[in-house]
Amino acid sequence: AVEFRGVGAWFGTQHVLRDVDLTVAPGERIVICGPSGSGKSTLIRCINGLVPHQAGTIRVGGRAPGGEGARVGMVFQAFNLFPHLSVLENCTLAPIHAGRMERRAAEELARRHLDRVRILGEAAKYPAQLSGGQQQRVAIARALCMSPEVMLFDEPTSALDPEMVQEVLDTLVGLAEGGMTMLVVTHEMGFARQVADRVVFMDEGQILEDAPPRDFFAAPGHPRARSFLARVL
Ligand code: ATP
Ligand code: MG
Repeated sequence: AVEFRGVGAWFGTQHVLRDVDLTVAPGERIVICGPSGSGKSTLIRCINGLVPHQAGTIRVGGRAPGGEGARVGMVFQAFNLFPHLSVLENCTLAPIHAGRMERRAAEELARRHLDRVRILGEAAKYPAQLSGGQQQRVAIARALCMSPEVMLFDEPTSALDPEMVQEVLDTLVGLAEGGMTMLVVTHEMGFARQVADRVVFMDEGQILEDAPPRDFFAAPGHPRARSFLARVL
């Protein structure tokens, strides 16, 4: 579903992705972790073309990132809902305008995804009337409305109050069980153990580890992964 081959990215003179190779098969769930500034957000933003790469190639479903037909959903740390639109309108805006769906079909699709994240009852509310966890679930439903072949999550629970973290993680687990291809940047190592097919550890723009959670947690091969784990577990 996603393929990186020798990908390099720079911000000015700063080299932020170094020779990244990563293949994510359809239906695979990848957790990406690593220290602050290691390039995790940059890596996943390259997948939807939010950040350009200057070396190597990236393919999403065989297409260049950000191009026509590359269907990628993204959920950020802060909810990024449109404050002046209702929950339902947040979900139908892009399908109607970018995807050129009929309003009625877009609303039906939105209701289906809002139901899937168990927030259909709040469809008429505005973002400010929802808790952080509810807003994040709306953000997930909104991304699903674009019928993505890949879903990207950048620390989806780290801006939440502790009591709301689990409801969002449960939503992610549900998506994973539904077979969605997912790349999730998170420090929630319990989630990684539970759903990840592979854990990718990054440091200084490089992938230092790419292993099933069982192996990664039992014996991370790289010393920097070991010291990272000692800090987050
Ligand atoms: P964190 O855990 O803090 O979110 P991260 O692993 O997601 O970190 P990135 O946001 O990918 O790290 O940043 C990698 C490097 O690129 C950092 O040194 C950062 O300062 C730099 N960087 C990120 N975005 C930009 C930008 N828009 N312009 C310039 N430099 C940037
Ligand atoms: Mg980041």
